[in-house]
Amino acid sequence: MQLHCPRCRSSLRQANYEGITIQQCERCSGQWLGGPELRTIIDARERQFSEEERARLAAHEKTFSPDRLASEQILDCPKCTGPMNKFRYAGDSPVVIDRCAACEGTWLDGGELEHVQILAETWERDLAGDLAQHGARLNRLRLDADEKLTPKLHVNSPLLRGLLGGFVRFWE
Ligand SMILES: [Zn+2]
Ligand SMILES: [Zn+2]
Repeated sequence: MQLHCPRCRSSLRQANYEGITIQQCERCSGQWLGGPELRTIIDARERQFSEEERARLAAHEKTFSPDRLASEQILDCPKCTGPMNKFRYAGDSPVVIDRCAACEGTWLDGGELEHVQILAETWERDLAGDLAQHGARLNRLRLDADEKLTPKLHVNSPLLRGLLGGFVRFWE
């Protein structure tokens, strides 16, 4: 079945995005993901993004206003033609994507897929940073426990040991 772009009505063409087959509008560069491809693309993280690409997203973030959401044109699903829902990616990001509740397909305007990937990458990096910080704290806590409480208490509580072990393993 030939699908059409919900923005400009041009035909969607099959395209390859990081090894994954998607449908792309050649006129406006919008992209249609018919199933769970978004998840797959985010998990795979094939690409390294340049500082320029990151800067573009940061600029977009500055001009983003949540009020814009209400005034944006509702797009119809390329597959089942019903209206799609607009939502901000990950709840509070400046990237607004459209999803069809009926077929669970996702529409991303040109450049949005890259934005989503950059966000996922940045958050993951921040998370790793947080864990490193917490990990260092936990290590200090463990040293303190060793110094001050040895030998009576040591880290003999299985619960505390489990917690420390779990955190440090995750961090490493
Ligand atoms: Zn288009
Ligand atoms: Zn649909």
